[in-house]
Amino acid sequence: MSYDLLIKNAYVIDPAQNWDGPAEVGVSAGKVAAFGPRLDPTGCPDVRDARGMYLSPGLIDLHGHWYEGGLYGINAEFGLNHGVTTAVDAGTAGFANFPEFRRTAMDHSRANLLGFVHISCLGLHAPFAEELLNLAYAKPVETAAVIERHRDRAVGVKVRIGAMTGDHGGAALDMALEAAEMARVPLMVHISKGANEREILDRLRPGDILTHCFHGRSNGIFTDSEEGMIPQLKLARERGVWFDIGHGCGSFSWESAQKAFEHHFYPDTISTDLHRYCVGDPFCLTLPVVMSKFLCLGMSLPEVILKTTLAPARALSRDKQIGHLRPGAQADMLLFEVRNGEFQFLDTHLRHRKGTQLIEPRLVIRNGIPYEPGAFPVELRELYECDKFVFDFVKSSA
Ligand SMILES: [Zn+2]
Repeated sequence: MSYDLLIKNAYVIDPAQNWDGPAEVGVSAGKVAAFGPRLDPTGCPDVRDARGMYLSPGLIDLHGHWYEGGLYGINAEFGLNHGVTTAVDAGTAGFANFPEFRRTAMDHSRANLLGFVHISCLGLHAPFAEELLNLAYAKPVETAAVIERHRDRAVGVKVRIGAMTGDHGGAALDMALEAAEMARVPLMVHISKGANEREILDRLRPGDILTHCFHGRSNGIFTDSEEGMIPQLKLARERGVWFDIGHGCGSFSWESAQKAFEHHFYPDTISTDLHRYCVGDPFCLTLPVVMSKFLCLGMSLPEVILKTTLAPARALSRDKQIGHLRPGAQADMLLFEVRNGEFQFLDTHLRHRKGTQLIEPRLVIRNGIPYEPGAFPVELRELYECDKFVFDFVKSSA
């Protein structure tokens, strides 16, 4: 058998196969055709020597904003430039604009683009006019209907609970759960200042996702008790609720992460929450940078890879096709190096930590086609006067 592409001499980390060592991967017709210690290069037109590099499944960013029909979104190919072969939109569109999101972006993107549908009909349209201050925007029946019609791309329901739901967070959660129940999909719940974490965690079902788990703005998950955390957290984890990072420009605190780690509470998935407000200064987020922050916190490289490949694939029930390198998988991969040195990493409270390792993409393979990192030209929308307060908010919380 000959391959279209053969990667040789890489150090492979593939948590699905418990693989942590040298291996070779052969690709045919956009799929992984063979995986093993030695593959025959005869007849292969593209043999790549990856000596000195790591190879992992393509990264899956479980939480980003990739719909440019609102002020938050950026082009998903930005992530592809950094090794994110599957970009999951976390509710930038609601039932009213999701079909347009699909037609204009999902169907054309070179990234594998999936999305949660926001319970608010227009999704996250503008940070200065939050989406659920008026509960009339929440439409469970229509949200479920759109998910049903777009099942190959729509992976769940999204709701944000915090200041953006005023004093009706509980009612918003009810409606989001109703939609998720109807469509038989997971619910992703954002928590921020003002959310009632105990009430939310009590209501989440197996397979639902809590994002921004280490946000550090009056985070109600953490307590001064001996356990360090509310009892609902452990119960929810035992029930099968997923805990996601969603870094963004306001949702990652060294202090919260450290406290959780001290109590052996680790996130299930590591995601960027990339959007227009954290793509540039001061955060300059990419998924490899967020992963490097977890190396800095003491997580091992295979754990960090697990939480950005197989774990999110499982959370999406897509682990047959993506998140691993078994024969038959979509040929999405990342070749990278781990650079040693001294690196400054920032949390969203603008606090620095020094790290000694930085994950740097070297070759992105999507659907069996190799791309140099940065190969996709991505334009960002211009900023307006009304965008300024988001950046001011970041500075004020330092
Ligand atoms: Zn988000």
